[in-house]
Amino acid sequence: GSVFAHLVQAPEDPILGVTVAYNKDPSPIKLNLGVGAYRTEEGKPLVLNVVRKAEQQLINDKSRIKEYLPIVGLVEFNKLSAKLILGADSPAIRENRVTTVECLSGTGSLRVGGEFLAKHYHQKTIYITQPTWGNHPKIFTLAGLTVKTYRYYDPSTQGLNFQGLLEDLGAAPPGSIVLLHACAHNPTGVDPTIQQWEQIRKLMRSKGLMPFFDSAYQGFASGSLDTDAKPIRMFVADGGECLIAQSYAKNMGLYGERVGALSIVCKSAEVAVKVESQLKLVIRPMYSSPPIHGASIVAVILRDRNLFNEWTLELKAMADRIISMRKQLFEALRARGTPGDWSHIIKQIGMFTFTGLNPAQVSFMTKEYHIYMTSDGRISMAGLSSKTVPHLADSIHAAVT
Ligand code: PMP
Repeated sequence: GSVFAHLVQAPEDPILGVTVAYNKDPSPIKLNLGVGAYRTEEGKPLVLNVVRKAEQQLINDKSRIKEYLPIVGLVEFNKLSAKLILGADSPAIRENRVTTVECLSGTGSLRVGGEFLAKHYHQKTIYITQPTWGNHPKIFTLAGLTVKTYRYYDPSTQGLNFQGLLEDLGAAPPGSIVLLHACAHNPTGVDPTIQQWEQIRKLMRSKGLMPFFDSAYQGFASGSLDTDAKPIRMFVADGGECLIAQSYAKNMGLYGERVGALSIVCKSAEVAVKVESQLKLVIRPMYSSPPIHGASIVAVILRDRNLFNEWTLELKAMADRIISMRKQLFEALRARGTPGDWSHIIKQIGMFTFTGLNPAQVSFMTKEYHIYMTSDGRISMAGLSSKTVPHLADSIHAAVT
């Protein structure tokens, strides 16, 4: 018999498992609103024009080779990524206080940052929002940190539980790590206001809490890369330290290229050099060095003013289509007289709507309407189109009446 015969069948991932179930459904009206991946009005995955152009440039460049990248990845990509998130005129960059390493998308950046902190930071507890992206607790636990939660979402207002957030962070042991969603909070779509961010910053700095920003949606929340980076830049402007995990999955549509970056903003250039040397020791035995293609695409786009501008327009178009889906779904429910206040659909920010539908209602919608989503009632607005809004509205109406 097999030495693995004793294994139990593991459950599917709560988010990626939604797609597995969707793929098995033969219904022609099925709709996948599980995974947060952008679709066009026609329901098709989108490769940005600017990405096609960058790839063409890369193919035409016969001097390109397939040698290993350094452990830290593509150095030009790292510099441009730090500028994108911190701002071109960031004093921290100018003072060489930022170290950036290319990682395997947002997930890989979080994992490398988590392992670095577990090895070298004096506090091993990380506070994550309640609720959060399902992969967060697993990433940080396996990185060697202890995961605790802080209050974030208030189901009764479908908004931010700001009082609860301040209380929980105020009660955290000094020095604790705090994971912050830079914008477009997943799964709730609820972000603090700039005034609230300022209060969070003051509280965290006064207690020496270490900010770890997860920036998976820069540009997707407001449509502006700079606006969405504002909370991070406020924390960097005070001269304090922080970590930032960046993903190009959503905002450049590079999902499967697995391209992202981890930046650590330090107090001095001297410290940043040492931090980078230790990051290399985390990365080398994990995957040795990161892949070359995705980072090359990003570098081509970020270094060229015309391509960069073209990217911002395509990004804005994606963000605008999602906002338009919010309005259409909200109107469709109003037209049906669906009981309840659905204004959170238009108030929430980013890719997802946290509908408030419970697991029983979600499973009803899957069974009767072939609509697939995570059991917490989160729907990916990026997977909707004008054609599919009525079907979704019918199913929500039936589920709550
Ligand atoms: N953080 C959050 C909050 C996310 O929603 C995601 C994507 N679902 C990620 C990180 C990382 O995704 P990726 O590894 O594909 O960049």
